Amino acid sequence: MPAAPYVGRFAPSPTGPLHFGSLVAALASWLDARAAGGRWLLRMEDLDRPRCVAGAADTLLRQLEAYGLHWDSTVVYQSTRDDAYAAALDALISQDLAYPCACTRARLAQAPRNAEGEIVYPGTCRNGLPAGAAARAWRLRVPPGTVAFHDRIHGDLGQDVAREVGDFIVRRADHLFAYQLAVVVDDAWQGVSHVVRGADLLWNTPRQIVLQTLLGLATPAYAHVPLITNAAGQKLSKQTLAPALPLSGQSRVLAQALAALGHPPPGELAGAAPAELLAWASGQWQIERVPMQPAIAKPAP
Ligand code: GLU
Repeated sequence: MPAAPYVGRFAPSPTGPLHFGSLVAALASWLDARAAGGRWLLRMEDLDRPRCVAGAADTLLRQLEAYGLHWDSTVVYQSTRDDAYAAALDALISQDLAYPCACTRARLAQAPRNAEGEIVYPGTCRNGLPAGAAARAWRLRVPPGTVAFHDRIHGDLGQDVAREVGDFIVRRADHLFAYQLAVVVDDAWQGVSHVVRGADLLWNTPRQIVLQTLLGLATPAYAHVPLITNAAGQKLSKQTLAPALPLSGQSRVLAQALAALGHPPPGELAGAAPAELLAWASGQWQIERVPMQPAIAKPAP
């Protein structure tokens, strides 16, 4: 049987422009797809409407183009996909795999937290809503047991999702579908075979595998690339005021991103255009060379 075709994707949330850390994730996913002769799709994760910033999606597209990271096919916007998420939630509800929850954030404030600092849901509404309480969110009834998975950079890992995360939210109290549900539905619908993304999402993977299993969807291969931190050790993000990826001087920034991914370009490529650097890097790409540890962003040139 021929191997399934490689389909990769980049799935930014348009909450602001791309920064150096998002370039590193996009670049890793692009290179992994191109080195395999695969397709690379772009999905705008504009699910959390209140967090989206007007114009950010268009800025992201311009930034990717300026760095030579061209995508295949039309861009998918999650804001247009509510029907698909609703169908997946209905399928879970019809098998009693999802249940309504009345707990407020305040009520859960005392609940234990896991190693990631997330609340472990204590199962308060698992066997029915407390008398007189109104449903707010929907939670997945997570089956017991360890979810084992392989990450192409981090190796073999496992997490007992029921114990370390608990029944997690699939539809939020504000009626928005949760990231975990949307990402699983869309990765399957877009035929994504390989997910390459930032290491901040590593421990979301077991939750996504639980959902894939319960929804009867295939599990893609996963690789989580190192986060880029600022000099204070914080992840580059809008909250830590990471500067937007510049639309000029791309060659130097791209070379720094390649170095962060364990593929520093040789001296003779200094100053080469993005297309030339990318052609070189896709010929060299070996995911085993990507380091596990976070890299510190160099100051802007
Ligand atoms: N939208 C998520 C983010 O920007 C990425 C989701 C994913 O790659 O699974 O952090």
